[in-house]
Amino acid sequence: ASGAGAAVRTTRSTCPYCGVGCGVLIDSVGDGDAGAGAGAGEVGPRIVGVRGDPDHPANHGRLCTKGATLHLTATPLVRRQQRLLRPAWRPTRGAPLQPRDWEATERHIAGQLLAIRARHGPDAIGFYVSGQLLTEDYHAFNKLARGLVGTNNIDSNSRLCMSAAVVGYKQSLGADAPPACYEDLERTDCLFIAGSNTAWAHPILFRRIEAAHAARPDMKIIVVDPRRTETAEFADLHLALKPGSDVALFHGMLNACIWEGWIAPDFIERHTAGFAALKALVRTMTPTEAARLTGLGETQILQAAQWFAQSPSTLSLYCMGLNQSSSGAAKNTALINLHLATGQIGRAGAGPFSLTGQPNAMGGRETGGMASLLPGHRDPGNAAHRAEVAALWGVDALPAAPGKTAVELFQAAADGEIKALWIACTNPAQSMPDQALVRAALARCELVILQEAFAGTATADFADVVLPATTWAEKEGTVTNSERRISRVRAALPPAGEARADWRIVRDVARRMETVLRPGRPSLFAWDRVEQPWIEHRESTRGRDLDIGGLSYAMLEAAPRQWPWPEGASAAKERLYEDGRYAHADGRARFIAKPFAPTAEVQDAAFPLALSTGRLRDQWHGMSRSGTVARLFAGEPAPALSMHPADIARRLLTPGSLVRVQSRRGPLIVPLRADDSVGPQRAWLPMHWGSEFLGGRGQCGINALTQSAFCPDARQPELKFAAVAVEAVDLP
Ligand code: SF4
Repeated sequence: ASGAGAAVRTTRSTCPYCGVGCGVLIDSVGDGDAGAGAGAGEVGPRIVGVRGDPDHPANHGRLCTKGATLHLTATPLVRRQQRLLRPAWRPTRGAPLQPRDWEATERHIAGQLLAIRARHGPDAIGFYVSGQLLTEDYHAFNKLARGLVGTNNIDSNSRLCMSAAVVGYKQSLGADAPPACYEDLERTDCLFIAGSNTAWAHPILFRRIEAAHAARPDMKIIVVDPRRTETAEFADLHLALKPGSDVALFHGMLNACIWEGWIAPDFIERHTAGFAALKALVRTMTPTEAARLTGLGETQILQAAQWFAQSPSTLSLYCMGLNQSSSGAAKNTALINLHLATGQIGRAGAGPFSLTGQPNAMGGRETGGMASLLPGHRDPGNAAHRAEVAALWGVDALPAAPGKTAVELFQAAADGEIKALWIACTNPAQSMPDQALVRAALARCELVILQEAFAGTATADFADVVLPATTWAEKEGTVTNSERRISRVRAALPPAGEARADWRIVRDVARRMETVLRPGRPSLFAWDRVEQPWIEHRESTRGRDLDIGGLSYAMLEAAPRQWPWPEGASAAKERLYEDGRYAHADGRARFIAKPFAPTAEVQDAAFPLALSTGRLRDQWHGMSRSGTVARLFAGEPAPALSMHPADIARRLLTPGSLVRVQSRRGPLIVPLRADDSVGPQRAWLPMHWGSEFLGGRGQCGINALTQSAFCPDARQPELKFAAVAVEAVDLP
């Protein structure tokens, strides 16, 4: 912070919405500490505005609509009316939540968790956390779950958005490390955007793309998306493929590259392994066959292949459209195969570049705050890695039994195997697929702890205990954005009400549990300030691909930095693999030969439409935060089901009227919209609206319809595809 004594105080921080990770300057007025008794910010400092940080390399001063209205999410009124302000718990199941003090609440939680652990074992406890948490919070939860409770049952809502990208990088390149950077958007000659509506989901990156295209009109832009999105409108070539057919497209493009001589044999020979098996696999995926499976024209596939291979540099940007799939990992590796076969990697403007949805999905990957990961990009299935982390943390051993990923956690809770769930900074009773299952799981748990900043989420209805957490503008810590850049998050306000930092809540409950689980031994959570968990995280990265051993908070105060930044480094590595050496032990990248597979469920006579869900430009996730800003509803005040006009006419439906959308899991009633950007036999819904907006608390929102079938490698559910039927609603 700067400007002490001035009327307006400016605090440098980071936007908490998307993975672009834009720098923000928070302007606030007023001094002193609002304190616990001050009533949620009625007195004390107040935010009066937010500006883009001109010195932040992600956004150079720009902000999108969500970032530019951040100050409106922290007004005194919002902090008084929309926030969780005190700890509370139910004396008995079904009774109303009753406010309690922190000390009694910590004692209550610690006692309940210890009792469940003693009765059923550590794997009866699960943690479901969030890419909204800061790196320090992630580290605290991971250490609690694995180091103290003794379970690998910790997963994140990031499982729903980028676990397929993690697996894709690891399988193909040997490490979960996005090799490109934002500057490559300005350096590339061909931008291949697959499964990303960048214009809406990552608006500031799209501004950079628009500017790059204006400066270099010869730059080619290819967009792969079933829907004609705002991003697709901007493309030189829009490949509106059948939902779920991406692997067929990428294999068909590779077939064309091989047949036409557009591959890079020298690169393949010197830097890769496995090309022969892949070549054999794609031999029959001719452009003709790929056209049949994708619904595209052969000439479109050939054109895309030629631009991809023959442009001086090609950068691919990809996101949920590839990841949220029952073959998400295969889609990622099929795209990376194209980069490797054509040598489009390891140079400025070239490479596969996944975008993260959430502000700190990357930090969760780095700290290993997911069932399939350990700190420092280690593997929980590797005994040596477990021993390394145990030594770093000062515990005897880490659990070896595999942890349950998001869908599996809730399935296990529904089956009665998981008895306690500690949920932090996420709203699974809205955001998880197959809501009927998730809600049954939450209802069956003996103990649901919800650590949240905002009041009244659907998950709170199932919570036995609610813990008020601080949020943006009140928190200190770090986040990592899509280009591996770590930025500081700083507090401009004191906490609302009695809210506490997430890492501190974990620390205080953990210390109470330690009196039983580690009597007489030094605390694993001897932290007084937020930098201490960060330093522990940093130490876990030494010698690893994401080594940040040379970074300190003081250096991050000066400027956000990209990893790796080992001890003694003087500059960031903007791009990885420029030396042609990949992270597999032999230094070679791998071609992954996975065949095309159809979606987990199919369209048929009963469910003839392919439904996809996605983001709007002006809303964020379940709208806990963005829903507090009236201005952000101006473009889309309510959800609507988009359908092609021909499909509407064939069913004798009326645009604007209510329709019942029915999947194999449940129904949803929403208004209908005629929209020819959605292809025939398809439908689209925005993902943001939950039960509180749709049909009342008993209803399940949009994820009543979606399915929990998941990718066998990445365990990421297929949120982008559900077969549905649509019919008119007969109003009484
Ligand atoms: Fe925030 Fe993302 Fe918008 Fe940047 S692009 S201001 S990080 S929501």
